[in-house]
Amino acid sequence: MIDVGVRQRRTQVGIVGSGPAGLLLARLLDRAGIDCVVLEQRDRGYVEARIRAGVLEQGTVNTLRAADVSDRLESAGLSHNGINLSLNGERRHIDLKALTGGKVVTVYGQTEVTRDLIAANLSAGVDILFEATDVDAQNLDTDQPTLTYTHAGQHYHLTCDFVAGCDGYHGVCRTCIPSGKINEYERAYPFA
Ligand SMILES: Cc1cc2nc3c(=O)[nH]c(=O)nc-3n(C[C@H](O)[C@H](O)[C@H](O)COP(=O)(O)OP(=O)(O)OC[C@H]3O[C@@H](n4cnc5c(N)ncnc54)[C@H](O)[C@@H]3O)c2cc1C
Repeated sequence: MIDVGVRQRRTQVGIVGSGPAGLLLARLLDRAGIDCVVLEQRDRGYVEARIRAGVLEQGTVNTLRAADVSDRLESAGLSHNGINLSLNGERRHIDLKALTGGKVVTVYGQTEVTRDLIAANLSAGVDILFEATDVDAQNLDTDQPTLTYTHAGQHYHLTCDFVAGCDGYHGVCRTCIPSGKINEYERAYPFA
């Protein structure tokens, strides 16, 4: 049963979405002493089992290390120093590590990254609300943006200093940003 009253909450940063972006942001903010709340529409099991990325670039690995969530990554991740390109019966090795001054690609599933980040955030006391539904963002162009949502049958009104829309291209936050306030950045390479 839903309690018709709306409960008021307050946080510094309201984060929508517990994918890698939202979870890593929450981790970095928490370590910087900044209070945040993560709202995720799916349940924890679904988020932790969602198959997506399989390889991590060096910058991602460095960031996970800096956020102190890399223990399992260090022990279970597979380092790839290069690739082989085959053309017209000839195989050529591309030594990525030598060509980039030591950068490698690490094979470590996004499911594992997600599990590591959820565990680290929860054990640090970060508030991740799974199965938060009807998430909506208001007043995004003011200094008191708000998130409204339903959790465990209760409606909430979360006042924030900042809202971080980490809910992906098809999420709700993008549609809440006032028109003319979105800058899109894209780099198109002349090859594929
Ligand atoms: C098949 C596949 C393979 C890939 N392989 C690689 C790879 O090898 N290497 C690599 O670096 N990248 C890869 N990617 C890309 C990588 O998966 C994405 O860049 C990454 O998932 C983006 O993370 P994110 O947190 O921004 O968004 P997402 O992972 O999409 O997370 C968004 C979160 O927001 C939640 N959400 C959405 N709407 C709402 C709402 N209304 N209310 C509350 N919560 C909401 C979603 O449930 C989700 O948990 C791959 C992607 C796919 C699909």
